[in-house]
Amino acid sequence: MAQRKPIVAGNWKMNGSLELVSEICGEVEKHKNVNLDVIIFPPALLLKDVVSKGILAGTQTISEFDSGAFTGEIHAQLAHELGAKYTLVGHSERRSLFSESNQQVADKFAKAQEFGLVPILCVGETEQQRDAGKTEEIVAQQIKAVIDKLGVAALNNSVIAYEPVWAIGTGKTATPEQAQAVHKFIRDMLSSYDEHVAQTLRILYGGSVNEKNSESLFAQADIDGGLIGGASLQKDAFISICKSAL
Ligand code: PEP
Repeated sequence: MAQRKPIVAGNWKMNGSLELVSEICGEVEKHKNVNLDVIIFPPALLLKDVVSKGILAGTQTISEFDSGAFTGEIHAQLAHELGAKYTLVGHSERRSLFSESNQQVADKFAKAQEFGLVPILCVGETEQQRDAGKTEEIVAQQIKAVIDKLGVAALNNSVIAYEPVWAIGTGKTATPEQAQAVHKFIRDMLSSYDEHVAQTLRILYGGSVNEKNSESLFAQADIDGGLIGGASLQKDAFISICKSAL
């Protein structure tokens, strides 16, 4: 079984301030551990401030386009130049609020890699899709869009975050067993393409992770850490979640 280094990533969404950068990054720095990658996804306007604290950072989305007349978009190349190492692509809020399709997410994934960013591909089903027994179908389609565009080898330099939509920001966490079942499904699916990718790709769980449930989630065989929203804005909770991934 491949050894996969865990990741704990904090998605600040459209929250945070210069003060929060100092507070959280200071703590993350203090608890740095070579066996864990901690990544902060602040609002893009705070990217440089997080980078300047020596913390791994990324953007919450990037444009699928090259530079040009795209007012308000985040350019992958510039994000990379400013020190971003990662970017989220296909977060459920982008998919639902900004109508991002699987194809567009695959284009963003490609653009991220073109400019040296590691994409974290977010996938997950809505409550309605789960109730209809479609979780695996939806997750497979979201991942296949990337494989169809770029080939499975592109996943070597990426991360997947399984985030059931019904668990994001709702306080309704998937049970460790529910999460593990989908993570295993993803790994089995990848193994039908490429065993190396399947065994080495880090797959994170996201959806109302907090300092009380993180340990049991991260203890699952196919869960390699978490993508944390709300709790990543609270210093003590976030550090405690980081420790539970070790
Ligand atoms: C997220 O935004 O990716 C997320 C998982 O949020 P929360 O932890 O607040 O559910």
